[in-house]
Amino acid sequence: MRKQKFGNGGPDVSVIGQGTWYIDRGDRKSAVAALRRGLDLGMNHIDTAEMYGDAEPVVAEAIAGRRDEVFLVSKVLPSNASRRGTITACERSLARLKTDRLDCYLLHWRGSYPLQETVAAFDELVAAGKIRSWGVSNFDTDDLNELLAVAGKGKIACNQVLYHLQERAIEHAVIPWCEQHGVAVVAYSPFGHNEFPSTRSKAGEALQAIADAHGASPRQVALAFLSRRPSVLAIPKAGTPEHAADNAAAGQLVLSEGDIAALDKAFPRGPKPRGLPML
Ligand code: NAP
Repeated sequence: MRKQKFGNGGPDVSVIGQGTWYIDRGDRKSAVAALRRGLDLGMNHIDTAEMYGDAEPVVAEAIAGRRDEVFLVSKVLPSNASRRGTITACERSLARLKTDRLDCYLLHWRGSYPLQETVAAFDELVAAGKIRSWGVSNFDTDDLNELLAVAGKGKIACNQVLYHLQERAIEHAVIPWCEQHGVAVVAYSPFGHNEFPSTRSKAGEALQAIADAHGASPRQVALAFLSRRPSVLAIPKAGTPEHAADNAAAGQLVLSEGDIAALDKAFPRGPKPRGLPML
């Protein structure tokens, strides 16, 4: 599994990680086994959130006895992101995850609490050793500029944003901004949530052809494409050990310039939308 620095001066984190949204809705044994298999195969980045129902307890079960192997990320809901609310939300997540610290804690999306409040709470959590770093999610460049002015240089570890073959909006401005400021870009819903390109579509056929040429699966090609720049990591969600293993293998797949050009043509980036797309 390829690893990359998580933002400026962060630790090495697997380029392909593990999402957990809806992981509590399927078979729990299979979900726990999937996350463990993922860890066995080097996918040490596990992403969860207080919003994801019972996902945090599922993660707790999966990482029991293996906490030190994991780069563990959770998120505070905007409705909880006041100075005090952020601290208590983090403490609840730590309890549900049965751990004493998060490696990164994110503001899930921008809400109505001033960024100053949330950043002050993040700083307090860092000082208390409850989180190692913090970042944001679903932030466009204007939000990022405001955040940078509040927090100062070198503080924002990551921006977690929607990115998949059919939704490449972040390539216009968000990725360049993050690269300029040493902020890791974490691609969420890298398979389009439930919208992975069908092989019956023309674009899906092109994807399949590249996969066949590499002896890989189309999803592995998609993950390799999304993480082709050193600043970008992806966090697919898998509910079975087989899917986790399939995704982990993408960490070894390197696409040629020709493959990238073919994918660029099959799944065009499109014009820059007004707002940042999000799920
Ligand atoms: P996703 O990862 O794009 O797709 C998940 C779907 O792909 C599931 O149906 C899963 O099925 C299937 N799948 C996974 N690996 C597969 C494989 N190798 N072969 C066939 N099918 C496979 O969707 P997502 O869960 O929306 O996004 C990933 C993670 O990003 C989330 O879990 C969450 O942690 C994060 N996220 C963050 C935000 C945010 O606002 N910050 C928003 C959305 C998502 P099985 O479950 O059956 O394996």
